[in-house]
Amino acid sequence: MSTEYHTVLVVGVEIDKSKVFKKTLVRGCRHSIDSLTPGHFCARCGNKIWINGIEIIPEYEDEHEITLAGIPVFSDDDNLMVVGHRSITIGFYTDQGTSGMMPQGADNDQYKEKLRQKLEPLGLWDKDKFGTWIIMWCS
Ligand SMILES: [Zn+2]
Repeated sequence: MSTEYHTVLVVGVEIDKSKVFKKTLVRGCRHSIDSLTPGHFCARCGNKIWINGIEIIPEYEDEHEITLAGIPVFSDDDNLMVVGHRSITIGFYTDQGTSGMMPQGADNDQYKEKLRQKLEPLGLWDKDKFGTWIIMWCS
């Protein structure tokens, strides 16, 4: 058993996760709300009628790959995520030495405009957050 360390270099934009995973109130039980039921608790089951929940914007998909508006998502932080494309992958393993690098070309100006067009309508674009990000994690 070994620890694997991963590093990716991503050209993209940083987004606050709270803009994608929005805190909201959701129903705390499945019983219909009776207008005669006073207070904050369900008269039938005793659970809170409304509890804190998370609403995920529909542009976020977690099927085969995690994407936001079709753009790959890279994240290892509780509060921030980076959407963009991987530029270089560096992986190395404690008991196997360094593995490899996979460089991919990127035209930053064209790519920045492409991301802006997809993210601005969602309120997720911030030109000052666009750049090259290094994301590291271990597994
Ligand atoms: Zn109930």
